[in-house]
Amino acid sequence: MSSTHFDIAIIGAGAAGLHLALAIKKESFFTNKRILILEKSAKDQNDRTWCFWEKEDGLWEDIVTKQWSRGHFFTANKSIPLALAPYRYKMIKAIDFYRFAKDEIASSPIFTWVSDDVLSVETAAAISIKGATSTYTADYVFDSRIPEKFHATNDHYTRLLQHFKGWIIRTEEDSFDPEQFTMMDFRLLQPETCSFTYVLPLNKREALVEFTLFSGNLLQEDTYDTMLKTYVRDILKIADYTIIEQEKGVIPMSDFPFEKYSIGKHIRIGTGGGWVKPTTGYSFKNCERNARKIVENLMLGRNANDGLISKKFRLYDSLFLDILNRKNYMGPALFETMYSKIPVQKIFAFLDDETNFKEDLGIMSKFRSKHFMQAFINYITRSWNT
Ligand SMILES: Cc1cc2nc3c(=O)[nH]c(=O)nc-3n(C[C@H](O)[C@H](O)[C@H](O)COP(=O)(O)OP(=O)(O)OC[C@H]3O[C@@H](n4cnc5c(N)ncnc54)[C@H](O)[C@@H]3O)c2cc1C
Repeated sequence: MSSTHFDIAIIGAGAAGLHLALAIKKESFFTNKRILILEKSAKDQNDRTWCFWEKEDGLWEDIVTKQWSRGHFFTANKSIPLALAPYRYKMIKAIDFYRFAKDEIASSPIFTWVSDDVLSVETAAAISIKGATSTYTADYVFDSRIPEKFHATNDHYTRLLQHFKGWIIRTEEDSFDPEQFTMMDFRLLQPETCSFTYVLPLNKREALVEFTLFSGNLLQEDTYDTMLKTYVRDILKIADYTIIEQEKGVIPMSDFPFEKYSIGKHIRIGTGGGWVKPTTGYSFKNCERNARKIVENLMLGRNANDGLISKKFRLYDSLFLDILNRKNYMGPALFETMYSKIPVQKIFAFLDDETNFKEDLGIMSKFRSKHFMQAFINYITRSWNT
């Protein structure tokens, strides 16, 4: 085997690529394989905070910054307490995950980590990867880059953005209950949009406060700051504080069929593989689940991407996205219906694609059916027209 040929190449050592590498490392099946990781950045920055829910202890307890079993959901009219058990809502700093994964990878001889910017991938008997500094070949390529076609908008798919800015603030006096977080707070809105703030208290004097929109267009940079300032002053009633860290981000919320751009043994993963839940923007747990599934598929000789995307839940996501896209102002009411009428455990299971059809019908019956009927008609019409 040539020194630039690998059994598996993973393009991108972000959430998806690292979850996949960690899942591979656990299995003796891969002991004699050669795994290449191609990453263009140093992965030494705390460039995001990941939150997710899971039942009790999970794989990441050692690097979880903080976890909560109780939370709140707020609208102008309602304050809904959320008792999550058996779930817990957990927060991980990306830098802790990168460090953990990089140490694990460095401790195993099967991995080769190369710093390179992948320019293109050509599919033949062995797949060829052209980087800025070298060319590599591999039997399987797992690729975190987003397919070019996603950026061409001349199709019928819905493309919304989850965009947000957050501050970790520190106060001089005790200001937070560290045992309770705010899942979504719709008391402060950008007019006519699905916009909310969430609060993740780290201790009595520090919290991540993040203003978020699910909408079509980004805001001016200073508008996020104004909303955060207003929320801290008017809703949290905090006058004196210091901003000790900031984060901002944009996550695609789309029913674009990313998985169709997985061809043969060139498999799209992560955001580029459609692993971001279109209606929530969450993907950390999906990356963990799908990485495990890929490893199982490889060990059983199946297609690597079998069973990664559920058509049923993709349809539900499409309908919900269509409503948010056409009637963005309805977002707060839709989420209020969800959190006031459905137990949070059921919501989490539904968002994890784990509910059965009967449970799905029970959940959907809580919403006003005319909006979903309209979305369904739109869906059928769009599908026929392509
Ligand atoms: C600020 C922020 C906060 C988020 N918070 C949450 C959260 O709380 N919970 C949650 O579930 N999800 C969250 N998400 C969404 C999602 O989990 C993340 O975006 C996740 O990182 C997606 O994983 P990924 O591997 O697809 O992309 P990334 O983690 O971005 O990794 C992609 C990697 O590929 C590398 N790369 C890209 N192009 C090339 C190339 N040409 N050559 C070589 N390397 C390349 C990049 O450098 C990067 O390291 C958040 C996203 C952002 C941006």
